[in-house]
Amino acid sequence: MELLIAGSLAYDSIESLAGSVSDTLGGSATYAALSARFHLSEGRIGIIGAVGDDFLPKDWDLLENKGIDMSSVDRLSGETFRWHGRYQGGDADAITVDTRMNVIDDYHPSVPPHALTPAVFLCGNLHPRLQRSLLSQIQPGLLIVDTMNRWISGYREELNPILSRADIIVINRTELEMLTGLSDISTGAASLREGECLGGEGPSVVVIKLGSNGAKAFGEWGVISSHGIPIEQVVDPTGCGDVFAGALAAHLLGNDSTDMPSKKEMQAALSHANRTASVNLKSFGVKAMVGLDQMTYENVEGGE
Ligand code: AMP
Repeated sequence: MELLIAGSLAYDSIESLAGSVSDTLGGSATYAALSARFHLSEGRIGIIGAVGDDFLPKDWDLLENKGIDMSSVDRLSGETFRWHGRYQGGDADAITVDTRMNVIDDYHPSVPPHALTPAVFLCGNLHPRLQRSLLSQIQPGLLIVDTMNRWISGYREELNPILSRADIIVINRTELEMLTGLSDISTGAASLREGECLGGEGPSVVVIKLGSNGAKAFGEWGVISSHGIPIEQVVDPTGCGDVFAGALAAHLLGNDSTDMPSKKEMQAALSHANRTASVNLKSFGVKAMVGLDQMTYENVEGGE
């Protein structure tokens, strides 16, 4: 496996200023894998996770037909993970109305042999209990970790060693402040890299997603910025963080920078991550990612 992505496979119900949808395909792993596949036309990309027996064959086939390896996804008895989110402004964080873990509660991952040593492991947003279980089995070349406010506020002790083991952490500004207690991005990222707030080592690179203001990455080479991309109409921000992480992982793998990315490699990866997230905003659910083609992508303005 070259790129392994852990995270949720979900049915989402979403309300935004543009309308609403119910039980549409989503999940952190789904978004990240679709994004990574767009950026990496060759190489084995797989998802590790679990779905219930209500997961529709058409959704499974959609992912497989995109060339995403589903052989490490367990089908468990019960309902697929469900998330209900609401957005009250274009660039606002989602308000979680309801989360139903469903089969995720009974999921005890056993990583198949072919997925044990991926070149890059994107350990996406998932309960820290599962992230820890996966990390006790998987030995990746490069480890990228994503998380969310829910785990930072409620599961900090379980989360700290996971973040400490990461080579690269991808978080937003609110999450950085929750982790470090610091509102200034540069000081917060430096503190996180030192690892003190994690009670161990810090990640080599801290990537901060800034929504319409782009993103910044902090590493031993200093700081890299990628500018925001203006979007006329935001339809649905769901999955932007996962799409961002998937594109980043694909580009770091594609550049063969699986030791530690150079400044130049990171700059390019960050710019693609930003650009891809801006595409995802334009439709509900995974529609924009499923339909994305090279011409549309190249016509996205800005983001350098
Ligand atoms: P993002 O907008 O990038 O934060 O990701 C939204 C996606 O994450 C949705 O498709 C949800 O199904 C999924 N999600 C939301 N909450 C959780 C959670 N607690 N654990 C795993 N995935 C989640």
